[in-house]
Amino acid sequence: MTELLTLCEARTALSPIETIFLTGLPEPAHELVEEPRCELHDDHPGVHMALAQESATDSWWLVWAPGNAQLTARGQKIDRRLHKMDNCPAVQEGGDEDECLLAEKHPGAHSFEMETSGAREPSAFSRKKMLAALREDLDDKARADLEEMESLLSSASGDPLPLITENEALVIAMLLGQAAHNDWLVEDLAIQLAERMESRLEALAR
Ligand SMILES: [Zn+2]
Ligand SMILES: [Zn+2]
Repeated sequence: MTELLTLCEARTALSPIETIFLTGLPEPAHELVEEPRCELHDDHPGVHMALAQESATDSWWLVWAPGNAQLTARGQKIDRRLHKMDNCPAVQEGGDEDECLLAEKHPGAHSFEMETSGAREPSAFSRKKMLAALREDLDDKARADLEEMESLLSSASGDPLPLITENEALVIAMLLGQAAHNDWLVEDLAIQLAERMESRLEALAR
């Protein structure tokens, strides 16, 4: 196996105007990174590039010039620019057939030849979309169970029962936290339950 290239260290903070523009894009895939890091390899030729946002099927890349160099766009000299760019079509041969995650015509090596730049925090929009897809994949029984749990929790009725000890309640709250972390489908339910139990435990402690 060939050694993976290390990543370029260059970072740049988004300007207020770039932030406003990127925040306004529809169907954002991930949370904005305030200070994106160049996604090319260490010592790469050419400009620095970082994926600023994916919006629906568009990828917006922030491209900025190293040092004091300037980019030229339509005859105008600028330091940096947000570009809507197509994906690099390169695919790793043999092995896993990983696709290059960089933009078309990027300088330097392809992303599968370097260390990973890490996953991004999915946006609320894409979490909702992924959750809907997960629900879609459930079989009838699992979907009915989930819907029953949601309806039980949303109804106000149900008397409090002297059913468990304080320590058991704490363990259940912790288990719920883990379940929420591991399974997006039950995340909302688990968070709701944990919050209710916590507030009752607090009320008892007073
Ligand atoms: Zn760079
Ligand atoms: Zn590439």
